[in-house]
Amino acid sequence: MSSTSSPTSPLARSNSENTPPIDLLNYTWNEMEDLCISMEQPKYRVRQLFRWIYQELETDVMQMTDLPKAFRLRLQNEASVGTLRTESVAESADGTRKFLFRLHDDMLIETVLIPEEKRNTLCVSSQVGCALACKFCYTASLGPGRNLTLGEYIAQVLETARLLPEAERKITNVVFMGMGEPLINFDNLMKTLSVLMDHRGLHLGRRRLTVSTAGLCPQILKMGQQFPVRLAISLHATTDEQRDDLMPINQRYPLKTLFETLQKYCDLTPTHRLPITLEYTLIAGINDSKLDAQRLAKLARSIQAKVNLIPYNEHPGATYTRSSPKSIEQFRDVLLEKHIRATCRITRGDDIYAACGQLAIHGPSENPTSPSTAPKPAPPRTPHHRRRRN
Ligand code: SF4
Repeated sequence: MSSTSSPTSPLARSNSENTPPIDLLNYTWNEMEDLCISMEQPKYRVRQLFRWIYQELETDVMQMTDLPKAFRLRLQNEASVGTLRTESVAESADGTRKFLFRLHDDMLIETVLIPEEKRNTLCVSSQVGCALACKFCYTASLGPGRNLTLGEYIAQVLETARLLPEAERKITNVVFMGMGEPLINFDNLMKTLSVLMDHRGLHLGRRRLTVSTAGLCPQILKMGQQFPVRLAISLHATTDEQRDDLMPINQRYPLKTLFETLQKYCDLTPTHRLPITLEYTLIAGINDSKLDAQRLAKLARSIQAKVNLIPYNEHPGATYTRSSPKSIEQFRDVLLEKHIRATCRITRGDDIYAACGQLAIHGPSENPTSPSTAPKPAPPRTPHHRRRRN
């Protein structure tokens, strides 16, 4: 599993003619302190830079008026605040907005904003494409792609905030449920969490951050030791046989291993425990029987998890169909009878293909990623481990 780290030698990078300028979003607080020192500036410059970047949302270093002019001129030559090119914004009837962003290498990613009365939840992407090949997932049809950098993670948050009217600008919750598996992009994910949580930056508490994973057990524990944020598991099946078929990652980390790991994750923060969410997409005739519901209840009870039931989001080319409203209700009733906290929320944004499992850059007006990673014509499938409102 690869990862892309932010640079450790910023000046060396900026001295080369062919090297892109320093992206100030690629730096955690500590790394930016080192950057300032390497530019012969006092450490406290980082406080000023963080304020301009994360609180004022400024992108022009020359406008950072409390920095010395000579330093601003140097930054102007050697650095920038990374931005993403907004290719399109689609707005759903329910207010959900899907942003299509172009990265510096022409790759495209999608980011989804779910506005609610008291919060703005942003669902960010972690990778261009995904290598985990879950059978029902539309993103999987892109195939393996590259990891997003720290700067690209953060730029999704800042860019979206800038596109909002000033009064609604605050992103209150971030969920890592967009394109790709966040725990494959582990190093950059950890740095992103550190920047999002930094009280001198965006200052989001761990309760406002949710990482959703298909179940990479070693990384789940490593994350828990560093940042025990909310965890959501893309479960979608209740036996190894079923899950091996739907989600090949299960062959490496079967259900027993996964649930032992989740118990350990809970044990890491016994006094400030945040309940784990099991994401379960209901696919007609595949995983929506009464027996499935009973097995799911048993798994949820074993770690005191709550369950999010997600009606499968059909899309053009999908090979599965959504469970009927009656099956969904019956499935949920079994969970409730067994005293499992189970929600089944209305799927938001599905008229713009922004609902769970539908992020894969498609539609006639959307030019797919770079030629090397363009979506393969075949098997668009769907849902994913994402539940965007936690
Ligand atoms: S469900 Fe998640 S982990 Fe599985 S292929 Fe889709 S994006 Fe990757």
